[in-house]
Amino acid sequence: MTDPFEVALARAQQYRQSLAERAPRPSITATALEARFDGPVPERGVPADVIIEALAEAADPGLVASPGRRFFGWVIGASHEAAVAADWLTSAWGQNAGLYACSPSAAMAEKVSSRWLLDILRLPEECSVGFVTGATMANFTCLAAARNAVLARVGWDVEALGLHGAPRVRILMGADAHASVLAALRFLGFGSGTVERIATDAEGRMLSDALGHALDAATGPAIVIAQAGQINTGAFDPGREIAAHCERHAAWLHVDGAFGLWARLCPELEHLTSGLDRADSWATDGHKWLQLPYDSGFAIVRDADAHRRAMAISASYLPSAEYDPARFTPELSRRARGFALWALLRTLGREGVREMVRRHCRCARRLAAILAATSGVRVVNEVVLNQLIVRFGEDDAMTHEVIAQLQRENLCFAEGARWRGQWVMRVSIIAADLDDDDIERLADAILRAWRTTQSLGSERSRLSIRRDEP
Ligand SMILES: *Cc1c(COP(=O)(O)O)cnc(C)c1O
Repeated sequence: MTDPFEVALARAQQYRQSLAERAPRPSITATALEARFDGPVPERGVPADVIIEALAEAADPGLVASPGRRFFGWVIGASHEAAVAADWLTSAWGQNAGLYACSPSAAMAEKVSSRWLLDILRLPEECSVGFVTGATMANFTCLAAARNAVLARVGWDVEALGLHGAPRVRILMGADAHASVLAALRFLGFGSGTVERIATDAEGRMLSDALGHALDAATGPAIVIAQAGQINTGAFDPGREIAAHCERHAAWLHVDGAFGLWARLCPELEHLTSGLDRADSWATDGHKWLQLPYDSGFAIVRDADAHRRAMAISASYLPSAEYDPARFTPELSRRARGFALWALLRTLGREGVREMVRRHCRCARRLAAILAATSGVRVVNEVVLNQLIVRFGEDDAMTHEVIAQLQRENLCFAEGARWRGQWVMRVSIIAADLDDDDIERLADAILRAWRTTQSLGSERSRLSIRRDEP
């Protein structure tokens, strides 16, 4: 039998090398792909190396080239090779990162790398950090700490008593907050219908005056959720003004900074991020801008005690140590995500992460300039970060068609979304290596799709005129 690790290594390298040529989006149908995986329930075992080879073979045509240089869909990082290699070791070591006793190295890698993380993000060093699966769970974890703290201040122990009969907690957030925040709130017993949505401006930024008025309207426990990096526009809620309102009302301020929080590495983006460090908690992703492999997110909480109280699990058989990662996460048994963070931060360094964020923002501005110079193409947002939304022609149909055309050509990939009632193309520049050449190729592909759509459009109207003739 060949070593299954060797098979995995060879296939992983093959995949990574294929990214240069691979179409960004697979073209195989779901039925054909299912058939590649399908078969009777396995009764008898087969050697692992054979099966790893078979797995790689089955999966290959259905893999999305999101770590490649031609993928601009959603907001997806590129799984940096240093972090992937660390992640392989993590799996091979088979460590349970819940408790120091289960894996002292996992605990210390998290402890040290979380200190680096706070320093790089310029957040208070007293914060506790929970290593979770992504920003949804990071929001959940931070908001659990918030729920604990704001209710404790009015004498209610939510961990013991739950929410039935509790003083009402107001939740306020911008109208353009990320949908996953509502999910996190629901998991915590805050129905999504009870959330007070604060009006936003054209870019999706919360209007801080409107927040101030809303907070003034009632007293009592309140949690305000601000956003650093709107999913379509990349816009930031005004941190300083929001922080001031929250301080005045003793409201807990939480920041959803899934990708935007990384802008804090760049002094030239200070106008976007200033004041965010005055919050009580922050959620961010590891698997977006930081390029950690899936899944990875960080729940950062200033009041480590509230964080601990919200996540506490204890039993006589669970030994406790000075630093147990599970104090800060919803899970007990858990993947040791600190190894990948440690390896990535050491590989890139603060400088490397900053250079990448800066390069992506520069690429976004460059793409915006090229597109905006083309008649009939409109960049809808102020490009302040790495996100663009683009509109083609006069109606939704044109924009739909340009996206469809781009995806048919399958040289570069972007998707669409509805923004302010209109269909737009969304472009996210976030995969590690992206640079000017990739932006040129993307701009060419988008403009080619636009020209094709225009000529199809005039062909269609010519045909429809002819059809209308008697
Ligand atoms: C992606 C994103 C989330 C959700 O993050 P996951 O890692 O997918 O759980 C939340 N908020 C914002 C602003 C995001 O961009």
